[in-house]
Amino acid sequence: MPVKPQVQKTIFLVWFLLVPAGLWYTYIHYPPHFTGNWVDILAFLLLTLAVASMPIVINDMFIFLIQWVALATFLKFGLFVEILFAQAAVISLLVRLRILKNGQLFRLPLNLIMFFIVSFVSGIIYFLIGGETGSSLSHDRHALMLAVVYAVLSYLLNQIIISFNLFFIYKRKESYFGKDFFVETITTLITLPIGIMLYILYKQVGILAIVFVGIPFVSLSIVFNLYYSSQKINAYLQKAAEIGHQLAERLNVNDVIHLFIQKLSEMLPVDYAYILEVSGDELKLIRRIESGTVMANDVKPLKKNEGISGMVWAKRKAFLFSAKMEWRGLVSGYIPSDVESILCVPIVSSKKVTGVLLLASKKKRAYEKFQHMIIDILCSHFAVAMENARHYEQTKRQSERCALTKLYNYRYFENMLTEEFEKMTGFERETLSLIILDIDHFKEVNDTYGHQSGNEILIELANRVSKLVGARGTVARYGGEEFVVLLPDTSKEEAYQMAEHIRQSVANWPFTLQQSLDQKQQQVRITASIGVATAPEDAEDALALIRHADRALYVGAKRAGRNRVAEYVK
Ligand code: GH3
Ligand code: MG
Ligand code: MG
Repeated sequence: MPVKPQVQKTIFLVWFLLVPAGLWYTYIHYPPHFTGNWVDILAFLLLTLAVASMPIVINDMFIFLIQWVALATFLKFGLFVEILFAQAAVISLLVRLRILKNGQLFRLPLNLIMFFIVSFVSGIIYFLIGGETGSSLSHDRHALMLAVVYAVLSYLLNQIIISFNLFFIYKRKESYFGKDFFVETITTLITLPIGIMLYILYKQVGILAIVFVGIPFVSLSIVFNLYYSSQKINAYLQKAAEIGHQLAERLNVNDVIHLFIQKLSEMLPVDYAYILEVSGDELKLIRRIESGTVMANDVKPLKKNEGISGMVWAKRKAFLFSAKMEWRGLVSGYIPSDVESILCVPIVSSKKVTGVLLLASKKKRAYEKFQHMIIDILCSHFAVAMENARHYEQTKRQSERCALTKLYNYRYFENMLTEEFEKMTGFERETLSLIILDIDHFKEVNDTYGHQSGNEILIELANRVSKLVGARGTVARYGGEEFVVLLPDTSKEEAYQMAEHIRQSVANWPFTLQQSLDQKQQQVRITASIGVATAPEDAEDALALIRHADRALYVGAKRAGRNRVAEYVK
């Protein structure tokens, strides 16, 4: 939630009124304890800055473990130096996190104020309850206890102030004292003995103590970070495997794409997602999602090496950009103007780049290096799932079509007839009409012109009938030279008229043969006989509807002389 400019100005003002005056007060009443020389103080300052710039990252949360250094600094050099160092630590920490951008500058005085209050109040309390600067902890149990009280107090105060600032400055509603608080408390408490150790050791061996304590601490925090990042990668890998299984279960190309993008958006910050597919020598957009909405794929295809995706295609290598200035010179096609981070990965299947995935975010540095690898894995799952789904869809299409005429086949037609009949008995449809057509004397056509020519006629007849019927019904090849038309919500008269149109379109225009026996183009006239039946008036079940239309065809049309339409009569 943005912080109002008025509040931001007040924060600057409070810092200006509070911190310099507080420092001056501290300097007068609790003057710094200088027993060592400047080199020692500088060494402590360097340690403070080094630790501040080395946060450990747990569950995407930065934890700064500078309290132990602050504790040793405070015990050794007193409150004034501790306050100064804490302020320096805050500055180095915010600079390192790169959060002091436009409109966020107020966070510097805000944090400086917070740290000042924590240092000041816990320091004053420490002195009030009898604590001293420079006391000997190794021999004095009481002094040790006071040091621990000071450390715990300053930690708690820090947490209270953070939650106060989240609530009043950022207006955040949820409680701060959740799991993150727990993790941070534990890690901080673990480091406190290190602070006490540093202090005691420094008293005995001087500046060398920083090396003795600092090196193990730095190693520890490196190990910590490695551990947590490997845990994070593990979690991602597990998720990727899970998504792979889910993708493999999808049989439909559209479902595969949908699931893929959905899962990616759950894992990564994705404002824009594009899937491009290699088709010939071009890269075509097949899915475009912007801010969660599927958009039209009306974007010009890319050539190899053209734009970022074209480059990924040509180089077969993923690219990661953290900010606009890194990719601005490369882009050549379409990209929304508010994009900053881009992650672009080739989709590889059987060692060939079959597509490109481009994810983009409005935020800078939205993607991390290791996410590269995860997306790579997901893309290969995606490629396999796409291939399977395509194959499945193609097989399915083939299994329900006739290879010669490309019409639906008998099997598909029967299923559809059953479905439509159920819709009618369920009162979704009023009537269901069926037209059945058989070519007259087709055997003679075959005998005269050859089987191949007969096939040509079947193809052209299928086209003529399909065109006539259009969206009003479904045409299927029922058998050798028999065709059916299923017409939902069509009355018997309408169906009869349609059948008559079909009959005329067959009889009135000759069929052209390209491959007749004597190799010349030839025109052939044929006729067809047609039967019509309509449910519910003519039939109570699906099979009866076919039987009765067939009966009309043979009795009413063929036997009555062919080239005619007959409707079923009881
Ligand atoms: P009618 O229907 O007028 O009684 O006479 P017909 O000669 O058409 O007889 P029928 O319908 O019983 O014969 C079907 C013929 O259609 C037999 C076969 O030679 C031919 N036929 C069936 N399927 C195909 C095919 O896929 N291609 C070709 N070229 N001919 C086929
Ligand atoms: Mg026949
Ligand atoms: Mg026939």
